[in-house]
Amino acid sequence: MNKKNLFGLTLTELENELSNLPKFRAKQIAAWIYQRGAKNFEDMTDLSKNLRADLNEKFEIQTPQLVKKLVSKDRLTTKFLLKFNDGAAVETVLMRHDYGNSVCISTQVGCAMGCKFCASTLNGMQRNLTAGEMLGEIIFVNDFLKTENQKVDTLVIMGTGEPLTNFDNLLKMLKLLHENYTLGMSYRKITISTCGIVPAIKNLIAEKIPVTLSISLHAPNNKLRSEIMPINSAFPLNEVLKAGELYAQETGRRVTYEYILIGGVNDTEEHARQLAKILDGQLCNVNLIPINPVDERNFQRPTHNAIQKFFHFLNSHNINATIRKEFGDEINAACGQLRNQNL
Ligand code: SAH
Repeated sequence: MNKKNLFGLTLTELENELSNLPKFRAKQIAAWIYQRGAKNFEDMTDLSKNLRADLNEKFEIQTPQLVKKLVSKDRLTTKFLLKFNDGAAVETVLMRHDYGNSVCISTQVGCAMGCKFCASTLNGMQRNLTAGEMLGEIIFVNDFLKTENQKVDTLVIMGTGEPLTNFDNLLKMLKLLHENYTLGMSYRKITISTCGIVPAIKNLIAEKIPVTLSISLHAPNNKLRSEIMPINSAFPLNEVLKAGELYAQETGRRVTYEYILIGGVNDTEEHARQLAKILDGQLCNVNLIPINPVDERNFQRPTHNAIQKFFHFLNSHNINATIRKEFGDEINAACGQLRNQNL
């Protein structure tokens, strides 16, 4: 018989599954699987042996398995390759900032978006991750940090996959993560990065959960954006910008625009001028990201000089820009690189 997986269920769903037991049991079990690191019912030492055996007959607790772990030289970045029950593997990254521990999760196995500079999309998309699998990535890292008396403080949804094309699972995961029987994470500590799925940005606004929205722009005009991001033909630049503006207006939260700097492609002063112009007046930040070159892709890093000039141009034209601190590029932290090596 196929056992029913309990990991990823809400408390109400657990109560329904365990309706023949007193309600407090569901709470107890939720704490075990989401907070106390139980991998099976045998671990749940405050349940009677009989009950543990009964539960084990019908249910299981599916959590991701560690395939590989890489630590950067400065020890600030740890990259995990995690495998799910069907053998699909994704990358999850822990970044130790001075303001706390941040985990970056994947939302899909591979990616369908086809961005020309990105390693995640080289082999297309295999499948969406479930809410339980995404939560599993976070809980895995939280359990890992427990051994150092630490925890996950913030979440960035910026790993492999386009989160807004896996909307329902994403939303279920966010709501679960917010519950006090899991990590009780505040929505304000969560950032979602998207390549600009306009209708889904509007759906996210309607949900009224105050997460930070980060939009991958990467080009200041339609022509160039379409060349490097095929999604731009479905949702063109001006619509993406309008959705970003609406997000800021409706949530009162500053939108981050990510802009990868690619040597000779989008890093000239003219590009900076166009970017400053299209973002003029928006409640936003620009995060400049010198490209992490991907072997299979023919893009070069910008020069140090080009990065500095671009940065100063924006800041002196009323656009608040920062340069992304690079984490662990020597351990293939660019999305999808570790998984591709493993395929
Ligand atoms: N699909 C979502 C989230 C995943 S990508 C999105 O597009 O935002 C997360 C970020 O990494 C995006 O800004 C993406 O453009 C960027 N990225 C992809 N490949 C990169 C590379 N080679 N170097 C630097 N950043 C990259």
